Amino acid sequence: MLRVLDDALERGLATLAAATTLAGLEEAHIQVFGRKAPLSEVQRGIGSLPAEARSDIGQRVNHARRQLQEAADGRRAMLEQASEDALLVADRVDLSLPGRRRRSGSLHPLSLAEDEIVDIFLRLGYRVAEGPEIEDEWHNFEALNIPPDHPARTMKDSIYVNIPGHPELLLRTETSSVQIRTMQSQPPPVFIIAPGRVYRRETPDATHLPVFHQVEGLVVDEGITFADLKGTLDAVARALFGQDRETKLGPAFFPFVEPGAELAVTCMRCDGAGCPVCGNGWIELLGCGMVHPVVLENCGYDPERYTGFAFGLGIDRVALLKYRIPDIRLLVDGDIRFLAQFGASR
Ligand SMILES: [Zn+2]
Repeated sequence: MLRVLDDALERGLATLAAATTLAGLEEAHIQVFGRKAPLSEVQRGIGSLPAEARSDIGQRVNHARRQLQEAADGRRAMLEQASEDALLVADRVDLSLPGRRRRSGSLHPLSLAEDEIVDIFLRLGYRVAEGPEIEDEWHNFEALNIPPDHPARTMKDSIYVNIPGHPELLLRTETSSVQIRTMQSQPPPVFIIAPGRVYRRETPDATHLPVFHQVEGLVVDEGITFADLKGTLDAVARALFGQDRETKLGPAFFPFVEPGAELAVTCMRCDGAGCPVCGNGWIELLGCGMVHPVVLENCGYDPERYTGFAFGLGIDRVALLKYRIPDIRLLVDGDIRFLAQFGASR
């Protein structure tokens, strides 16, 4: 009987240890502790033993049962832990899997170009100034030395706003009016840029839109010279189109500057050699000049003491050149296939 008991203990421990799942352990438990298990048979046999042997065998059986029970409990705890771990593994988020990404939008090429231009001037110490898009004739024309008989003032070029009693209101034709408003509101020194939307009576084609965008700049202080204008705009052109660009100034007339000039930059495609885009190797980038003394006077600045320069740069034009966009109308068509090309991520 002792041999059977030792055998039951040994096999029982092996059976419990062999269970690899909780369900398997249930079965092992029945095999080890069930009614037909060797251990139970030994226990049942105790009754037929002589009285003096019962106590000893009984203790041995109980001891074996405790050992088996401990083994079963230990095995259960282990399997439960393993099962929990398995669940955790199954539920784990695999961070290496590609996610279901939402398509993010992207900045419009005009915004990209404007941000870049503004950043360049902020680094040079300029401040961004803003003003109304509906202007009066004085801020839009007269203060800028554009007299009433100037062709720019005719209905052919400008878009007037139909507000009864206010025939002087129009959609600004340039953001230069912001320069006037800035000078009226503060004494020199002035270092501002004025980015914004402007309006002209244009028929849309590959290079014209009735609504387009400008960055105008204005510097006024004591001792500002044409050399400051040249150095500043040269640095800006290189920052925008590459450090190996060259620039040149040619004479031009604008009523609000004297002298006036146009800045050209060497073509970014042919590097100045000449190609179908530029013709002679140069691309006209912006108009500029020394602020006309009359304009300074109009804003209450003493032209004997202060000098300054101003410039106007087309944001649309910069976007077309930088991103090699062949037709300005693409900027306003809203074609997602066009716009998606400017996204940081698609
Ligand atoms: Zn070229």
